[in-house]
Amino acid sequence: MVINDLDAKVAAAAEMILASRRLVVFTGAGISTESGIPDFRGPGGIWTRFDPDDFTIQKFLSSRETRKKQWEILVKGELLSGVKPNRAHHAIAKLGRIGKLDCIITQNVDNLHQKAGNSPEKIFELHGNLQWIRCMDCGERYSVEHIMALLQGGVEVPECEKCHGILKPDAVFFGEMLPPDTLNAATDHSMRCDLFLVVGSSLVVHPAALMPAYAKEAGAKLIIVNIGDTPYDSRADILIEGKAGDVMSKMVEKVEKGP
Ligand code: NAD
Ligand code: ZN
Repeated sequence: MVINDLDAKVAAAAEMILASRRLVVFTGAGISTESGIPDFRGPGGIWTRFDPDDFTIQKFLSSRETRKKQWEILVKGELLSGVKPNRAHHAIAKLGRIGKLDCIITQNVDNLHQKAGNSPEKIFELHGNLQWIRCMDCGERYSVEHIMALLQGGVEVPECEKCHGILKPDAVFFGEMLPPDTLNAATDHSMRCDLFLVVGSSLVVHPAALMPAYAKEAGAKLIIVNIGDTPYDSRADILIEGKAGDVMSKMVEKVEKGP
């Protein structure tokens, strides 16, 4: 039987996972396209439908009109309504269940790793999570369902029930800092892992994209599963060009079978 290149690479990656002691999985928008969420830069990506300018923190804070537009997008459910984890998320959840996962570092805001069953304390969300809405003044947090009910009841621009402050989806906008505790923890885990597995990221958004560099510099091995090039391709120990759902389910199946 001829083993094709892809199968051989997936098998080698599975062996690397089995041999690893601290595996960090790093995910980007590409892991969720198979769940029906468009990525940023691909065809049909988010910026073909929305104006990136509206997602700068300056505009959001200064313009009620921009905030209104954003809440309209949310209430229409265009971004994340009813999305479910796909085979790639489930495969990574399985790595957690069989004790082969140190943590997940994700750039995604879609809550799909939690929905797949990974424990929340092992998921570092560098760019926040759209499940939550936060008050910019007092920090109070509301569930998206709570705010949705207000919007559906006719409120155009909801405000904080405690202090009347500006409410904002709890995702990191352009021009905003990443949550410092999460960034520190992610950096720390990247520096201490011995295997760093990227799934579905173009690795161009900083500082998130520094994580594989921290891992490599500390001596970890690097596996990249992605469609399309990344600036780290030449530094990868295994580079797999393929669909996340397909590749990750095969890889984890092999991990489960053992050495
Ligand atoms: P990106 O859009 O820059 O890159 C995604 C990469 O995944 C691309 O290289 C693309 O070709 C590849 N890809 C697409 N479908 C794939 C599949 N099925 N299998 C394997 N690879 C696939 O996304 P990024 O690197 O995450 O960075 C951009 C920013 O996008 C992040 O800041 C993130 O917060 C945000 N974002 C998040 C979501 C989400 O939460 N699901 C969606 C869109 C954007
Ligand atoms: Zn408030």
